[in-house]
Amino acid sequence: MKYDLHSHSIFSDGDLTPEDLIREASAGGVNVLALTDHDTVDGLPRAEAAAKIAGITLVDGVEISTRWEKLDIHILGLGVDVNNSTLIDGLKFHQTERVTRAQQVSKKFEKLGIEGMWEEVSQQVKTHYVGRPDFARVLIKRGVVNNFQSAFTKYLAAGKPAYVATDWASIPEAVSWITAAGGVALVAHPGRYRITRTKLAKLLACFKESGGEGMEVLYSGQALSKTQDLARLSKQFGLVASAGSDFHGFSYPGMRFGALAEMPSGCETLWDSSLWQKCM
Ligand code: AMP
Ligand code: MN
Ligand code: MN
Ligand code: MN
Repeated sequence: MKYDLHSHSIFSDGDLTPEDLIREASAGGVNVLALTDHDTVDGLPRAEAAAKIAGITLVDGVEISTRWEKLDIHILGLGVDVNNSTLIDGLKFHQTERVTRAQQVSKKFEKLGIEGMWEEVSQQVKTHYVGRPDFARVLIKRGVVNNFQSAFTKYLAAGKPAYVATDWASIPEAVSWITAAGGVALVAHPGRYRITRTKLAKLLACFKESGGEGMEVLYSGQALSKTQDLARLSKQFGLVASAGSDFHGFSYPGMRFGALAEMPSGCETLWDSSLWQKCM
């Protein structure tokens, strides 16, 4: 069985519709897929319908942005009830924060002599998600940068001139939204944060204390040594291990369906744990 419990559609910053996403996952041999758009669950009904036709098992998911020690940390919620009012209210708050932030980012661009970004970004946004990848697309279209990566390294990444720190929910808040909606909370891509191992351990301890239950151990493009270290940390903190490609479509060619490595032996996976019933 191939599990891929982290992916994005056009309902956040992915390139594919939920239907095309399911087709692509199917072509990659994925049997169990989670759609985890950023701060929205709006794509899930369409994904659910397409998954039934394709014979894929869909897990209802979401990736929630949080703020922890001045860092943006992403928390996955898997098996969430999309009608739960606590979760919906939390996500609405983040969707409003996203609009406020986008306007602030646009002001920063103005100061850099790049005008009218909010006008152009808001015109092309058709869902409840607006984020930095939308700015990256406009920058590419205008020829300010050549590609996605340089939009981030020149302007949008933390500490760069157009970065705005956002007042996201805290980790305990995000975990409480997920738990209220009957889901399992997991730390997304723990290997991607630019922090020391000591700080990562502190993050995992805080997450566990907040009621979090799992972490991604397998992730796209991750070195084997990193995966093995994350497997050790998952055991140390009693967090079940998950697997996610973080597929976004063509903007991120390194994140593909069906290309994840094998889970290191001895890991307690989410799908073999008693928590899995919450995801089904
Ligand atoms: P936002 O949700 O607006 O904070 O944007 C975060 C999204 O931007 C992430 O989910 C990634 O898809 C993308 N992203 C973040 N950092 C980078 C980076 N350094 N290079 C390319 N894409 C990035
Ligand atoms: Mn993304
Ligand atoms: Mn993420
Ligand atoms: Mn993601």
